[in-house]
Amino acid sequence: MSEAITNTSARFEGDGVVSFTTAALDAPATGLARIRVDVCALCGSDKRLLASGADVVPGHEVVGTVIESAAGAPAAGTRVVVFIPVSCGQCAACRRQQNNRCYELRGLMGWQFDGGFAEYMDVPPQCLIPVPDDIPSDVAVLALDTFGTAAHALRLGARTQPSGIEDLLVIGCGPLGLGVVAVALAMGIPKVQAWDPNGSRLALAEALGADAAPDLEGTNRHQVVAEVSGAASARASAQDLVEPGGAILALGESNEPYLMPATPRWRRTDCFTVRSFYFPPTEVDDNWELLRSQGARLRDTIMTPTRLSDLEDTFTRFVDGEYVKPYITHEETR
Ligand SMILES: [Zn+2]
Ligand SMILES: [Zn+2]
Repeated sequence: MSEAITNTSARFEGDGVVSFTTAALDAPATGLARIRVDVCALCGSDKRLLASGADVVPGHEVVGTVIESAAGAPAAGTRVVVFIPVSCGQCAACRRQQNNRCYELRGLMGWQFDGGFAEYMDVPPQCLIPVPDDIPSDVAVLALDTFGTAAHALRLGARTQPSGIEDLLVIGCGPLGLGVVAVALAMGIPKVQAWDPNGSRLALAEALGADAAPDLEGTNRHQVVAEVSGAASARASAQDLVEPGGAILALGESNEPYLMPATPRWRRTDCFTVRSFYFPPTEVDDNWELLRSQGARLRDTIMTPTRLSDLEDTFTRFVDGEYVKPYITHEETR
């Protein structure tokens, strides 16, 4: 039994308001391990919860250290990332270690279960993945939504192409789009172009090693188009730009419906549209390798350390575009 500890955690009240509570922690519920949160990154998808309010502690890109283990969890002292799908462990997908495809998904950490905008977090053992010692926590966090989601989408996309992906256009240079750029380069995709209406965001993609696409005009120009913005106009552009036989990676999320219009162009285009969700644990080892080659560069290009107590202000700056990928840390900031 550990000594009594208090936990400060954040809540989204709606309309951009963040509140905090500090309370003594009881022992974790049976079966859950407890981690100290070392890093929790802000995600574009959090903005929707920030506006609507959330019933649980938000924050779903978490690196922590196990302070109280549980059956099936890494030992106390192990540094971990939190794999957010709370999967059943027994369905056909889970038995293949494709827990992101769980047929009986119970929910997601930071969405339906308390997440990482807090000092401590209780986590089911199947959601804890140890971090290799040589990867710092502010790089390891990129293994989740930024590298993990990007790499899985690119791998799914590659399976649709007889010789893999040789020509990629990334539309939208937010954190995930920049992650797609970094992963594509780490994977050795020979031609990686990026586009964003915001010149400073596009410059970040160029800093990572992508070429700037001159425009989004024309048709049949790219083998694979990663649409990461979620904007209706960008989705329409992706449908024009993809080559026959190519693939659109539909990663961008928005509240707008995804349209498959019965226009002559789209009706006469023979291609793949790939939608992916997160990544399976089986890909994590390969993703650490990708992070070793491009992770520190991506961190230095997009990330800003901040404090939990500054979360509301950090979100304001994130929504305004001042920060690309801020994260809270309880460690001394770099
Ligand atoms: Zn996220
Ligand atoms: Zn399952």
